Amino acid sequence: MVKAAVFLGKEQLEIQEFPKPKVEKDGALLRVTHCGVCGTDPHIFRGDLAVPTPLVLGHEFAGIMEEMGSDFPRKDMLGKPLQIGDAVTLGTSLVCGECYYCRFVPQRNNLCENCDIYGITLTSTEAPHLFGGFSEYVYLKPGSWVFKVPEGLDLEIAALADPMACATRTFERAYSPGLPSANEGFGAGKSVVIQGLGTIGILAAAAAKTAGAYPVIGIEGVDLRIDMAKKFGCDEIINLNEYTTKEAREARVKELTNGLGADVVLEMAGIPAAFEESLMLVRPGGKIIEFGHFSDVGNASINAQHIVNKDVDISGVFAYPNSQIGIALNLLAATKDRFPYKDLITHRFPVEEAEKAIRAGMDKTCVKSMIVPK
Ligand SMILES: [Zn+2]
Ligand SMILES: [Zn+2]
Repeated sequence: MVKAAVFLGKEQLEIQEFPKPKVEKDGALLRVTHCGVCGTDPHIFRGDLAVPTPLVLGHEFAGIMEEMGSDFPRKDMLGKPLQIGDAVTLGTSLVCGECYYCRFVPQRNNLCENCDIYGITLTSTEAPHLFGGFSEYVYLKPGSWVFKVPEGLDLEIAALADPMACATRTFERAYSPGLPSANEGFGAGKSVVIQGLGTIGILAAAAAKTAGAYPVIGIEGVDLRIDMAKKFGCDEIINLNEYTTKEAREARVKELTNGLGADVVLEMAGIPAAFEESLMLVRPGGKIIEFGHFSDVGNASINAQHIVNKDVDISGVFAYPNSQIGIALNLLAATKDRFPYKDLITHRFPVEEAEKAIRAGMDKTCVKSMIVPK
């Protein structure tokens, strides 16, 4: 039997046991070694995000290929040979391949119109039941984007590929439209402000720093996150407890950017006031990337004239295309000795304590909470 944490509805999570799945010709079975609690999981748990139930939660998983059906590809998404016993992680979407976005904009298959996502849209109602990472096993469907974990990269760090994919995609949106020589978009030596230093904000700081940003300025009020962000490439921190008004924060950003404002602002706090403030922090002609509002937290009040007067570019980020996992793994492997990724994982729980793991994810004393099946 396989233990899994099943979401049944608002604030109801139950540990259930399922028979170990029989692997079909086109499927595979992954033994989960790690699964992160995402920022979305507490929202699902609290009932702010509509999902079908019953649902095994968890989409940030990594593990070991335990069984593979005869038709399941023997290569990963980068063409590397794939076999039983390999350490892997996944692009968590199962895209349809047939809608307008899959056919005409495949590099943005995050916009697929018939997309399924492990741990978010695939219920546990029917066998093989196990389509989420808060479980000892995940059943891999045909069409899964499997990536082998680069050699020398720990599986626990590989389980950060999903938040790193969100972080790098958010940051990479700042490159376009991009002609760095004309001071458009991101380029080496450009200033970056990150509003909100949760896991993804911290990983975005690491990505920006690695790409040559300077200064990387984080805005945050929680000490633990501030201390962590300093180890992940933040050159400057604007502490919300010290700079308590938006005017004070705007003045500080200008002080740190030759009086201009930031070339790039990444909004990763997910509160309407932060989006409003992003327009004050960016320099004229700069870029704002909005990532934080993945759930509906209400409207911001924006005077569109500020967008006009600043001649600013604003881009949205809806998750990431599956290919971004390849980029994330590559960056994690490249920087594993530069940034202390394991320190991000402040809480670890077995499947049986999934609810505690989710509640820890809501707690400000947590950076990353992870399920580590026994
Ligand atoms: Zn996630
Ligand atoms: Zn599609």
